[in-house]
Amino acid sequence: MASREFDVAVVGGGLVGAATAWGLAREGCRVALLDEGDRAVRASRGNFALVWVQSKGLGLAAYSAWTVRSSNAWAGFAAILKDETGLDVCFQRPGGFHLALSERELDARATSLKRLHNQPGAVDLRAEILDHDRVAKMLPDIGPEVVGGSYCPFDGHVNSLRLFRSLHTALRARGVAYLPSHRVEDITREGGVFRLATQQGEICAGRIALAAGNANMRLAPMVGLEAPMKPERGQIVVTERLRPFLHHPIVTLRQTDEGTVMIGDSKEESTDPAGLTLGVAATEAERAVRMFPRLASANVVRTWSAIRVMTRDGFPIYDESETHPGAFVLCCHSGVTLAANHALTVAPMIARGALDPALVAPFSARRFHVQAVE
Ligand SMILES: Cc1cc2nc3c(=O)[nH]c(=O)nc-3n(C[C@H](O)[C@H](O)[C@H](O)COP(=O)(O)OP(=O)(O)OC[C@H]3O[C@@H](n4cnc5c(N)ncnc54)[C@H](O)[C@@H]3O)c2cc1C
Repeated sequence: MASREFDVAVVGGGLVGAATAWGLAREGCRVALLDEGDRAVRASRGNFALVWVQSKGLGLAAYSAWTVRSSNAWAGFAAILKDETGLDVCFQRPGGFHLALSERELDARATSLKRLHNQPGAVDLRAEILDHDRVAKMLPDIGPEVVGGSYCPFDGHVNSLRLFRSLHTALRARGVAYLPSHRVEDITREGGVFRLATQQGEICAGRIALAAGNANMRLAPMVGLEAPMKPERGQIVVTERLRPFLHHPIVTLRQTDEGTVMIGDSKEESTDPAGLTLGVAATEAERAVRMFPRLASANVVRTWSAIRVMTRDGFPIYDESETHPGAFVLCCHSGVTLAANHALTVAPMIARGALDPALVAPFSARRFHVQAVE
């Protein structure tokens, strides 16, 4: 089979790869986007769709700043996509809540915000702790068990599947070669050209961006990079469509633009489908009903679980290879939140041929090279 040649090959057609490929095409690059087939494990098809800021960056202030930057860029990003595709991804940023069902939970939330705020280099998230009455002014349907919550004006949400569809529509319109069923098995570099071996033949490119989610762990070492990952399962419960009542997203539930209520923020280390039980989803639903008693009479129409792309410390990895110049790796949880950054900030860097040192310094995988204690 003949090989095909591109300026950049992006490996992984999830939200991170699609946003990056689109950003590269906007910079004038000839781009191939290689993906697996329909049965692949893909976080981008099963997420909760928050553009979320208020809990990001404890332990790495640069991650807070990076998240705020994407939240601020999101409206512009959505507008460009709409311009190119006619599709509205329904981005809204009304500010979001993290609700507490006990004083203990509220104290823990306040402590966590204080620690975020007190970190060296912290950005001002403008987050505040509100008591029950102040929360009720913005969320009139909360139940009596809600003692309060934290609010952050940078938080929002989007229609995540429409985002995915609109990115793929925009990719097509810009001539990006989307290549499904092109699982990359091996990567080599000869004479300044990367050769990506797939069962459908070889793809050649001057640069590569690895955006294969948890599979970056296997691919990155082929080009002198690394991506230590720790995948994690999340479960989501979806109700029938209800009349609009929830005008702010909450970290554990949100009403979509279509009227359904999505519930879920679970984290399980086990990713084995055999270990999937109803207990986790039941706990999520039970807490949702305590927050909004009206949900007790709502019918559940769907539940699903999906595997989060999670680095070993939970913070993103953006890196470029020293041994294989032109090879980049991108992986993160929060690929919805960070989509604006990937398309508008990271992709132009890759198009120029190098990540900005200010991005690599906090987010390089070299941070995992801590010396073992003897
Ligand atoms: C339950 C849940 C809730 C979430 N909620 C939110 C949220 O509210 N807000 C938010 O910002 N984020 C959220 N996320 C995270 C978000 O969905 C992910 O960060 C994002 O989807 C990651 O995108 P990705 O492209 O890196 O990974 P994926 O979607 O997993 O895509 C990786 C792609 O790479 C392909 N691939 C793998 N190996 C190869 C190979 N060898 N060759 C070619 N292709 C390959 C796969 O087929 C796949 O299509 C949530 C995730 C889950 C699971």
